[in-house]
Amino acid sequence: MIVKIKFKPLIIFTSIALILGIIISVFFNTAHVVSADEKKTFIKWVDFRVSYDAMDKALKADVNSIDEEVKLNWVEILAYLGTRYGGDFSRYKPKDMDNLISQLKNGESIETLTKDLKHYNYYYDAYSAVLGNFVGPYEVQVKDENNPEKKEWVEKYGLKVFSPLAAGYGYSHYDDFGNSRSYGFRRVHLGNDLLGSIGTPVIAVETGRVEALGWNQYGGWRIGIRSLDNKRYYYYAHLRKDHPYVKSLKEGDIVYAGDVIGYLGMTGYSSKENVNNINTPHLHFGMQLIFDESQKETLAEIWIDVYKIVKLLNRNGSPVSYNKDNKEFERIYDIRFHNVPERTIRNDNIVPSAQ
Ligand SMILES: [Zn+2]
Repeated sequence: MIVKIKFKPLIIFTSIALILGIIISVFFNTAHVVSADEKKTFIKWVDFRVSYDAMDKALKADVNSIDEEVKLNWVEILAYLGTRYGGDFSRYKPKDMDNLISQLKNGESIETLTKDLKHYNYYYDAYSAVLGNFVGPYEVQVKDENNPEKKEWVEKYGLKVFSPLAAGYGYSHYDDFGNSRSYGFRRVHLGNDLLGSIGTPVIAVETGRVEALGWNQYGGWRIGIRSLDNKRYYYYAHLRKDHPYVKSLKEGDIVYAGDVIGYLGMTGYSSKENVNNINTPHLHFGMQLIFDESQKETLAEIWIDVYKIVKLLNRNGSPVSYNKDNKEFERIYDIRFHNVPERTIRNDNIVPSAQ
């Protein structure tokens, strides 16, 4: 009996400690689960179906409002319409965009207009990942009107990304995203093929860091460039046999939008390096979205249909000229951006910015 009584407080104490322990561990486990869930709230899938006409019209509205009382933002405009259409721009009517623009110009905020639209944030984040760095201020060289031999710097606001092929080089393309491909395992086409002439200078669409450079049995000689915000990975493939890239280019280099990075060719579909095994010379151009690094090089990769984007970029070709000394094509008019590291790619055409 005495022994039992003696142990009673211990049992009570142990029970309380046990219950507390369970409560604490449940609490921390729950907290852990919640934070893991929170981590996983990045976007998993994007089907980019914004039409060319809608992008074109929203871009003009954005650029033309730069000095107006109400500055319009093309990504917000497209995200609003995307939400209304469930992402399907075959439903797009220019009148819908006009109505939105007049509401915004009348002083209504996008926050008020979208407060009951449950999926607006998704479309805004998805379209921002694609188009968010396409438009903004930049400085670019233009021909000096008084002295055509010289170039002068001008400040601009607008589209600051370039066509993947140099200005003046023709190409043809159609919306071939998702078509089946037979080389290797069964798979679908995750980009847009720009059919052009061998040697056409290939241009960096957006400023970024060279992440991949070399041979890949599908893409042949290929370059992968990551945007500086890390959200977009640009893939340029089937580059020219023997001279695929600008020779000085290396992994880790910073290239600017509009720089020549390589040359169109027909390499690829071979595990052996430097082999032309593609029937039609073309640039394969692709864009992958990365919301979380776990989406890189896994089955969770998000590649979007860039056909309409290539069509939009066609208006912004980078003029180039041939440099006999280093046997490379180089951009003629330099560009610079705010808050972007110095480029490391060599370009003999470009005079250091101090001059
Ligand atoms: Zn392709």
